[in-house]
Amino acid sequence: MANSLTDVFGAAAAVAKGMSVTLREMMSPTVTENYPDEPPKFQERFRGAHVLQRDENGLEKCVACFLCAAACPSNCIYIEAAENTELVRISGGERFAKTYNIDYNRCIFCGYCVEACPTDAITHGHGFEIASYNTSTLIYRKEDMLAAVPAGAKPPVVHEPAEAGAH
Ligand code: SF4
Ligand code: SF4
Repeated sequence: MANSLTDVFGAAAAVAKGMSVTLREMMSPTVTENYPDEPPKFQERFRGAHVLQRDENGLEKCVACFLCAAACPSNCIYIEAAENTELVRISGGERFAKTYNIDYNRCIFCGYCVEACPTDAITHGHGFEIASYNTSTLIYRKEDMLAAVPAGAKPPVVHEPAEAGAH
């Protein structure tokens, strides 16, 4: 008898708890996204299309270490590295990514590449409108993902040999 009463009170408490959640949600304001007429709102942590970041001087943060490609479970990052020289400085490190592609046919937006990057070069942006009927357009190149040069920073300088010799 005691067990039966305990069961009944337990069940009633569970129903009351469930109904309290339902009532609370009924009272909260309805949020309607008017996409595509208005841009959708994202949580800060939303993992959208990637952005390759620049530092405060406008140099690319990627130093072509390949750690993101190694961490990627989908094997969808392709990088070709090149050396910075006295004439051409693209990144703040020794090397920069001459080619940096992400194949969005395969990317699962897991964020492992972002976590692996030692320079915070690769990040998730909020871009999400990347669906396409043409799969070849889903291979994003470095130029598609590179952040704009920050205001006040000079864009990376590529010195001509004659100009470099003058200094
Ligand atoms: S988000 Fe995941 S699957 Fe996509 S490129 Fe990064 S590591 Fe690879
Ligand atoms: S994005 Fe980051 S992890 Fe990937 S190659 Fe560039 S510096 Fe290395």
